[in-house]
This record gives sequence, C-alpha cells and structure tokens, in this order.
Amino acid sequence: MGPRRSRRRRTLRLDAGSATHVGRIRDVNQDDVGTTDEAFVVADGMGGHRGGEVASAVAVEAVLDGFTGPDRASLVRAVRDANRAVLERAAADRDLAGMGTTLCALAIVDGPGGQGGEEALAVVNIGDSRVYRHDADGLVQVSDDHSLVADLVRAGELTPEEAAVHPQRNILTRALGIEADPVIDSWELQPARGDRYLLCSDGLFNELDDGRIAELVADGPVAEVASRLVAEAVAAGGHDNVTVLVVEVAEGPERPSGARPPVGAARPERSGGQVGGRPASADVPGASLRTVVASIAAVAAAVVLVAGVWSRQGWFIGSDDGDVAVFRGRPSGMLWFGPTFVEGGDLRVSLLDDSTRAAVEQTIDVGTLDEARRLIEGFRADAAAG
Ligand code: MG
Repeated sequence: MGPRRSRRRRTLRLDAGSATHVGRIRDVNQDDVGTTDEAFVVADGMGGHRGGEVASAVAVEAVLDGFTGPDRASLVRAVRDANRAVLERAAADRDLAGMGTTLCALAIVDGPGGQGGEEALAVVNIGDSRVYRHDADGLVQVSDDHSLVADLVRAGELTPEEAAVHPQRNILTRALGIEADPVIDSWELQPARGDRYLLCSDGLFNELDDGRIAELVADGPVAEVASRLVAEAVAAGGHDNVTVLVVEVAEGPERPSGARPPVGAARPERSGGQVGGRPASADVPGASLRTVVASIAAVAAAVVLVAGVWSRQGWFIGSDDGDVAVFRGRPSGMLWFGPTFVEGGDLRVSLLDDSTRAAVEQTIDVGTLDEARRLIEGFRADAAAG
C-alpha cells in the first residue's frame, strides 16, 4: 500500500458490503473488488491464461493506492495510474499480453466548495461495470456503459431491451490495459444520508433486471444485500463471474427536500484534459447528426482496436451449426474479425440444459483450449446424465 495523505475530519461516513462468485460456467473469477474507508472499486478483467484475474487485481490495487484525494481529479489520476500498471504488467509477462479490465469506483472527495466545504462523492468508470444509486426515488444508473450495444442505444439503433439480450453485448469500446491514454468518465454527486450506491460487474445485470436489483438493494444491511444480489444472479444462470459492492451513506447531510437534480452527463477526460467525447445537447441545427456520425466512427475505431487486441489470444465456446465448438478469436470477431473454428462437432447444442444452451449460444469466453475442453467435457457429462 502506498502513502496516504493524513485525513482531516470527515463529516461523511460510508458503510460497505461486498460479495463475489465465480458463477456456474467459468473456472476462474476474473472480477475483483477492493475498498478503503474512502474509496470503493470493482473491476472485471479479461484475457487468456491468468490475464483477466491479474488485470483486475492490479487495477483495483493501483486505484486504492493511487487515490490520495482530495478531489475528483485525484480519482481520475488513480485510474490512469491503474491503466499504466496493467499495461506495464502485461508488457513484462508474455502470458499476460493483451489483458484488460473494466473498472468503476466511488470515493469521498472535497465538494464544490473545496477544502473545508461540503464533501461530495466522485464516481469514475471505464468499461461496462456499472455504478447505480438507490434512494427514495428508486434506482438510477449513474455510469454509462462503454460497450458497442450501449453506443447503439445512444445512437437510437437499439432499444435498451434489445441491448440487454444482444449476443454482442460483451463487446467493449473502452477498457484499461488497451491503450496508453484512455478516456475516463467521471461524475461528482451530492451525498445524502441513506443513499445506497451499487458497484457491480456485468455478471449481475446480465442476469437480473433493474426492477429486481432495486428491490434487493433496498432491503437489509449492505453486506446481506451484496450476498443476496450475488446469490440471486448465480441462481438465475451464473453465466459469468458476479461481483457486487454496496456502499451506503451512513453519516452525511440530510437529503434536501424537493426533487433531486438528475445525474448529469459524465465528464470524459484524457490525461491531456477534457475531451469532447460526449455529444452535448445539440443547440446548433445540424450539429446533432454530425456528432452521432462522428461518435459511431469513433466507436467503430475503438471496437476494432479492442477486438483486435483481444482477438489474438482469446478462445471461446459457441455454436457451429448446432454443434458445440471451440473457436479461436473473440466472439466480437463475428462483427469485425473472423473467428477460427478449432474443434467440435460431436456434441449437439440441443442436448444441453436450458441454461448451458443459452450460454453456448451467447458464446463463453475461456482462457485456454484446455479450459474449453474441460468445460465441454462437463457439458457432455451433464447431457449424458440428463
Ligand atoms: Mg463480466
């Protein structure tokens, strides 16, 4: 652990509870979660061999070490440090080449009044792990997903309902460990006593809808809430690793009466300063169309970048004309890179139980060919037993 600044007295106290589970399909839990009294982090790693596990662990530790306050900029810097740490670790070890991770975090920072003023909560995000806020008005998603389907929703090409079940919903447009200077989104929010923040990997919201998440978040102490959310996501399918961190504002200002301001747009930043990644409201006639076109081009470039990096070492299980098969490459390759058929043809997808069949049809990322073969042997044994 690195040096931490000496703390002045805080008026804000956060209570946190977390839980994580490998799920029912994967061999390895590549998610990671970490907390201090003032910072709370969830990461979802990806990459062959031990890459995914290492990337998420390196990133979480780097953010907790690097966040020394006092403001939102410090948290963004810590995420940038984490990106560098993942890249350096990958460069130093051939087995870890190409690993990456999502990351979202929440931290106590000085509010708009600066030191001595009121405290605020800073939120950062890169990738498709999520930060939600739950209060008396219900559940709202604070972070924006950096995924292909989320970009298509923002462009009006998909509905949120279509995106939630889209087979390519695991394609990321941003992550840590992919480029030297990624764009990092951040927000600053006013805390109110009783608010709960939920940080989670996609293994949660790909299994449970927001309505069910809202019911569970509201009910019980934070540690129990975290365990229950994870248990229910695993029971609902557990197709992926599931990680949940629930943070409650235990001591802090009363919520002001009246309607709460909506969660604002992210501030997207590179290290050189602010970037204009997010289309602001289109005041200028004609500006809206150009912004969307520009952002789709940027999305396509980012997807090619991400998929290009990951397609070299990925393996996945999918369906080849109704047969369970192993492919080299990333499932994202169906859009931009042709995945290569490796083996298969002796187990029909139709023989699998419902949950496994759905997972295979949506493709299952695995770290190695051996892992793919082990999983398929398990499917075969289950199918024979069933
Ligand atoms: Mg995941």
